[in-house]
Amino acid sequence: MSSKMKFVDEELKRLKDEGLYVNIRVIESPQGPWVQIEGRRVLNLCSNNYLGLCSDPRLCAKAKEYIDKYGVGPGAVRTIAGTMSIHIELEKKLAAFKGAEAAIVVQSGFCANLSAIPPLVGKDDLIFSDELNHASIIDGCRLSRAEIVRYAHCDVKDLEAKLKEYAGRNCRKLIVTDGVFSMDGDIAPLPEIVDLADKYGAMVMVDDAHGEGVLGRGGRGIVDHFGLGDRVDVEVGTLSKAFGVVGGFVAGSTSLVEYLRQKARPNLFSSALTVPDVAANIAAVDILEESDDLVKKLWENGNYLKQCLKERGFDIGRSQTPITPIMVGDASKAKEFSLKLFDEGIFIQSIAYPTVPLGKARLRAMVSAAHSRKDLDFAVDKFTKVGKALGII
Ligand SMILES: *Cc1c(COP(=O)(O)O)cnc(C)c1O
Repeated sequence: MSSKMKFVDEELKRLKDEGLYVNIRVIESPQGPWVQIEGRRVLNLCSNNYLGLCSDPRLCAKAKEYIDKYGVGPGAVRTIAGTMSIHIELEKKLAAFKGAEAAIVVQSGFCANLSAIPPLVGKDDLIFSDELNHASIIDGCRLSRAEIVRYAHCDVKDLEAKLKEYAGRNCRKLIVTDGVFSMDGDIAPLPEIVDLADKYGAMVMVDDAHGEGVLGRGGRGIVDHFGLGDRVDVEVGTLSKAFGVVGGFVAGSTSLVEYLRQKARPNLFSSALTVPDVAANIAAVDILEESDDLVKKLWENGNYLKQCLKERGFDIGRSQTPITPIMVGDASKAKEFSLKLFDEGIFIQSIAYPTVPLGKARLRAMVSAAHSRKDLDFAVDKFTKVGKALGII
């Protein structure tokens, strides 16, 4: 490698030396409650496939049907090659599901944040951002070039103090937060945030990536959960978690969505979702509209796992959702916990600094509606066995 590229190897070595290098497991089967890794069947407690839709036959059938009718590729960006009717069909279904006037679909949840934020605020404006917001919100904020004011995590007193401090600034203001915070499973205090936004004249945007398909009636998300209706100006969503496919969207008023179609750079300069993605997403929304069985099963499973782990003496943090952290503290011990569990047939990742604060390393169990009681009992037994051996309980 030429000397000007030497930093690449040096940085890789540093990551490995400091235990920050991520070894990526290769999955040789469809995503599901059990997956095949290195030829072995292991219980999957890693994925965001909350409702088990990633390999649902109804999604696969719809994808095949639409491939036969519409092919696979979208041709180019929607503003140039024309938008396919199926993308509009998905947007209408998503808006109806979310109880919003309209929605625009983009390539991912990450892109949805890059789509939503820069058109709303610019160089002379202000963003009030929860300190634990997702990386894609942070990048969307940076791209906007607005001044970013971070407030303490879910702390409405601190948010109000910051809003007060900048009350004299005559500019656009945007409060932005994750709906569900994925590392702890806690929920943003959205009703209080909306009240503050009204009081100080700020727009409110929530990224509901871990709330869709999970919170609210039939998985309609955090705005429905709190009954806030149109008091939240901008709702960002992902189609890659509970919906089981890939894609992102922004939902809100008709004029907001019309504005984003003209202004959002991922819509203007990057091609739309492929046909099978759109088709499978349509099938996913239809399933959620038809019944809340999967959402109920997800919560049942989450509550059951939490209850069992608590009874066995584990510290499971402050989650208010099916996301179940299993606190360990020390990063290398968390890693060892994860590796030993893999030997026992459980795929679960350890999460450490900088993703979570120093000294707060943990495992994070992601249950899904597709797990059975027997699967969860198996997990609890293995957690207990390895947890005891490592002195975690
Ligand atoms: C996962 C996640 C995203 C990214 O979604 P993708 O569709 O995977 O790009 C964005 N925001 C939050 C809060 C997330 O948890």
